[in-house]
Amino acid sequence: MSDEDDRRIEALIHDVVRDFRETAHTTGVSAPDQRLVEALRRVPRNEFVPGAAARSAWENRALPIGQGQTISQPFVVALMTQLLALTPESRVLEIGTGSGYQAAILAELAGEVFSIEVVPELAETASATLERLGYRDVHVRAGNGRDGWPEAAPFDAIIVTAGADEIPPALVEQLRTGGRLVIPVDAQWTGQDLFVGVKQEDGSLKKRRALSVIFVPLIGGDAGHGHR
Ligand code: SAH
Repeated sequence: MSDEDDRRIEALIHDVVRDFRETAHTTGVSAPDQRLVEALRRVPRNEFVPGAAARSAWENRALPIGQGQTISQPFVVALMTQLLALTPESRVLEIGTGSGYQAAILAELAGEVFSIEVVPELAETASATLERLGYRDVHVRAGNGRDGWPEAAPFDAIIVTAGADEIPPALVEQLRTGGRLVIPVDAQWTGQDLFVGVKQEDGSLKKRRALSVIFVPLIGGDAGHGHR
């Protein structure tokens, strides 16, 4: 990478660190872990953003990735990742592969990553990008993420990167006891509340609200949720 790239990356990290500080009163996290900062430095976000938008890859904002979808804002990627409390042994499930960028960040910090994307073209492109960049411990499949990935369960952590109307029960089932779920759930008026939940011994999820966020919708709900 050029000096110019280095300068842009450090400017992005600076913005992300500032956003952590400014939202700490609701997130409970005052700064990103050093390992997470290293992951943000290492994963080339420009490789995950197609076309002209790649020029803006090092800006702290969401960008279009085609099919009407977006790659999330780096701060939000970082915060959600931090809330998962990953270790190098963690097995992680992501719903909403999109560009594959979040999956790459997870792969830098965890042992194995499983990611589901409902738009087949996006799943294919993300899978190819991850392979080209050498991320061998990321498994991408096309499908409805609301059902989770039962054959690979249980997971230590599950992250949903689209706005859900409710917490899909299959995802809580596929979490191990003590495992964490980070998910944006539709708020009353606009956007979503980002929740972080920990699965309890009795199978329930103990959750708290971390932040207000705006994601594209998680599609393919049950009959009766016909507006999606
Ligand atoms: N994590 C992505 C950004 C996600 S944008 C990244 O790093 O680039 C949200 C993604 O969720 C979109 O690609 C959208 O197609 C996908 N999605 C929406 N509903 C879904 C569902 N039910 N199952 C799996 N993926 C879904």
